[in-house]
Amino acid sequence: MEKAVEVHGLVKSYGQVQAVRGIDFYVEKGKIFAFLGPNGAGKSTTIEILSTALQADQGRALINGYTLGQEDEKIRSTIGVVFQGHHLDDLLTVKENLLTRGSFYGLRGAKLDQAVRQAARSAQVEEFLQRPYGKLSGGQRRRADIARALVNKPQLLFLDEPTTGLDAQTRRHVWESINQLKEESGVTIFLTTHYMEEAAGADYVIVIDHGMIAAKGTPAELKEEYAQDQLRLWAQDQAALAAQIEEMGLEYQQQADVLTIAIASTLDALPIVERCRDHISGFEVLQGTMDDAFIGITGEEIRP
Ligand code: ADP
Repeated sequence: MEKAVEVHGLVKSYGQVQAVRGIDFYVEKGKIFAFLGPNGAGKSTTIEILSTALQADQGRALINGYTLGQEDEKIRSTIGVVFQGHHLDDLLTVKENLLTRGSFYGLRGAKLDQAVRQAARSAQVEEFLQRPYGKLSGGQRRRADIARALVNKPQLLFLDEPTTGLDAQTRRHVWESINQLKEESGVTIFLTTHYMEEAAGADYVIVIDHGMIAAKGTPAELKEEYAQDQLRLWAQDQAALAAQIEEMGLEYQQQADVLTIAIASTLDALPIVERCRDHISGFEVLQGTMDDAFIGITGEEIRP
């Protein structure tokens, strides 16, 4: 397995604030990797360090095989970065913005045209290429930002909170572009997010909180390990059902005539349902979500 990013013992403080407190991880080439954490967790700081915009206090990292701090020029030529906020010129069209960016990388003539066309296609901005950036909607701008980061054909794309502030439908559009990018051009995507359900779309997730890694795994692994399933029972006879559940030594929560029991896995519902069947009118098993996993990992709901 090839690694696009390898990080050892990364530390960064701003005065008294320890933003990143010694983290180790790697990112597999060609995958979508999500850094999930609440505001202030240290996500942007990490991404800024790895993209050479900020210097770490301690630690080492390899980006596309190049050593951070020693081969930063080479790193910059093989990555694309989309930070939060808008970075294109409002008055220029999307195409003009992309052309300007390409010439910044020394591209000229047919090569420049080809790079701009390719970036526009990958980020799905072709239909508004001729429109001024300042006139685009939020989601269109984000895709134009991504197109700009693709002009130099990066092997690795950093996206800091790519969908923050966008509505649900626009978020889906941006995600379509991200997925297409991975499928068609094999670019490794390193994104940060504080939306749990968004992290569920990644191949691998690291949960960061207070500058430290709180958990890592595929979304399925995180859900399996940290999110509990729930068995919901509809009571026919509430008192009898409650007594039966207590007799089994289980805890439950009650809302109207529905009693909810946390269970470790779906199959654990079977013996409970069997024992309670005379007192219930129905049941359902709810699978744990990434939200539940996050609460399981950090012991709190994601901080707004
Ligand atoms: P995230 O991206 O997860 O929201 P950040 O990396 O932006 O987290 O911030 C991590 C911590 O470092 C926070 O406590 C934040 O207030 C602090 N911080 C970030 N940037 C600066 C800065 N330039 N100066 C001082 N403190 C900062």
